[in-house]
Amino acid sequence: MLPLGHMGITLSIVRTAAWLFRINSLDYRVLLVGSILPDLIDKPLRILFATEPIFGKGFGHSFLFLVSLYSVGKLLRNNQHKTTLWALWIGAVIHDVFDLMWFFPKIFFWPAFIPNLPKAPYEPWGQIIHFYGVPIRQVFALEVVGGGILLVSFIILALNNRLVRFLKTGKLSYTRRDGLSS
Ligand SMILES: [Zn+2]
Repeated sequence: MLPLGHMGITLSIVRTAAWLFRINSLDYRVLLVGSILPDLIDKPLRILFATEPIFGKGFGHSFLFLVSLYSVGKLLRNNQHKTTLWALWIGAVIHDVFDLMWFFPKIFFWPAFIPNLPKAPYEPWGQIIHFYGVPIRQVFALEVVGGGILLVSFIILALNNRLVRFLKTGKLSYTRRDGLSS
């Protein structure tokens, strides 16, 4: 999945879960960054240090990275910082699910199986997923869905004078009534 798909679909899933479980402390700006964080880490690294420029999966997509982020969150004492880190962590976890990381166990569980991170075409299953298994049309369909979710969300926020509030606080209350509870 590409950035718009990751951000838009993660936003809709987490917003729905937050509404169901009445969680209103999430910073959705940070969640959006977290939803592409593994790619923000790995893709530039792969471009700089490896030969394959597109399908960068490495430390940022690993279980070790998620555990490290979680551990830092546990160590933080400031509640505001904790909330920020959880939003980042939730976004990164969902990113790995959408990237089907169970097809890339050598990367996901690195360095458990091998000392060096594999390069593309990665592992047998990974090769199928990345190069043959996901038709390009589906990838772009998810981009359109994710981009559409983001666009509609921002339009609703703007129509309800909530866009600036979202940009300043990360709170995602679409209407004034919604805003009373979040
Ligand atoms: Zn990724």
